Amino acid sequence: MANRADYIAAELGKIITQSLRNMAASKVKVSASNLKTSLTNNEAFIQMIKHAMAGGEKSELLKYVTPLKGFVADAPLKEIEDIVFDPDKGFNETMTALLSALSEHIITLEKRQHKVSSFIEDVFSKFVGLQAELTTSFSNSIDFVEKDLEIDKKLLGDAEDMHNVLKNEDSIDYLRSKMLESFSNFVDTFGSKTENKKGHLDTIAKDYSSVNTELEEYKQQVNKLQSDLNKYKTESITDHLTGLFNRKYMDMKMGEEIERYKRMNTPFCVMLVDIDHFKSVNDNYGHLVGDQVLKHLSKLIQDNIRKTDFAFRYGGEEFLVIISNADVRNSQHIAEQIRKKLETVNFALKGNSFYVTASFGIASFEKTDDAESVTKRADDRLYKAKETGRNKVVAQ
Ligand code: GH3
Ligand code: MG
Ligand code: MG
Repeated sequence: MANRADYIAAELGKIITQSLRNMAASKVKVSASNLKTSLTNNEAFIQMIKHAMAGGEKSELLKYVTPLKGFVADAPLKEIEDIVFDPDKGFNETMTALLSALSEHIITLEKRQHKVSSFIEDVFSKFVGLQAELTTSFSNSIDFVEKDLEIDKKLLGDAEDMHNVLKNEDSIDYLRSKMLESFSNFVDTFGSKTENKKGHLDTIAKDYSSVNTELEEYKQQVNKLQSDLNKYKTESITDHLTGLFNRKYMDMKMGEEIERYKRMNTPFCVMLVDIDHFKSVNDNYGHLVGDQVLKHLSKLIQDNIRKTDFAFRYGGEEFLVIISNADVRNSQHIAEQIRKKLETVNFALKGNSFYVTASFGIASFEKTDDAESVTKRADDRLYKAKETGRNKVVAQ
């Protein structure tokens, strides 16, 4: 060993470090007094100090402290110097005082190092957590994720840098400045991450709003189409003057009713209504008044049939009603109600006052029937009603 003082100092350093490790391993609280106890009972340490003292100059001891400067870089060595150069102090006293001073510094340093490292650990885990959270929330956007991963890589790199500085650096000053540098990198990188996130959110918000506007427009168009379609459909099956269904729809409904009769044997009747002497209403009061009468009777028919029945304008002043799930008696009853109500209506239109009646022919659908034959039979009976005095219901 070229330099005896360096050798002693290095050995002292090793012994102190080993003592601290042993204390940590056996979970002894690392305190100044515990370290002192541990070292004063350590034979190797005592021998090394004795060896140093026996070697001559007390001032040489100062050199033994130098390698520990790394640990105690910012600690004033004045105290140690005072101890070493105190001429009144013997070996034991010197050693104890020196140890006391050293251990205090080491422990303070340990504590500070621990504080810094746990702070870094904390920040590190928070960033890692945050990174995971951000990555998950926006993983649906490939562009964003790619950019985000790049930033994450840099974030992790920054965090690792900090970690390495902590692991490898002994000087608290150096550690602090390195850490601040790393931390500032970290903050910058994190800032770009936030910017990226904001940009992404803006894009999402814009996309969402334009998609939403488009959807809203489509929705309105579809609604309009739907209501137009419904309107056209209703118009195409409705008689404009009376509001009843037209003949086109009558053919369709008659077909459906016959189908049901054949499948489930559900009985139904066809009722024909024709206004009596309607020609004279037109002749006496005009066509507009005639139209009002047609409308009035249509409403009367509609109001007196059930929801399951269907009323159609069959011809000029003739109406056909499909009375579903009903026999001749039920149908007769309905017809009579309409007939009786109509004959009591006093039409007071354009200064005129008159009464109107109607005749009814009813036929129930039979096995051998089709739409034409059942309607013909109802028409025959209507004719019979006309022939036999009008304002009556004929059902056979
Ligand atoms: P009957 O008692 O035998 O049925 O006699 P009627 O006069 O009612 O019979 P006819 O078939 O001779 O006359 C029907 C009249 O109905 C002829 C036509 O001018 C009139 N008419 C048909 N459609 C309309 C309409 O939409 N509005 C008006 N105001 N009259 C109509
Ligand atoms: Mg007629
Ligand atoms: Mg008529």
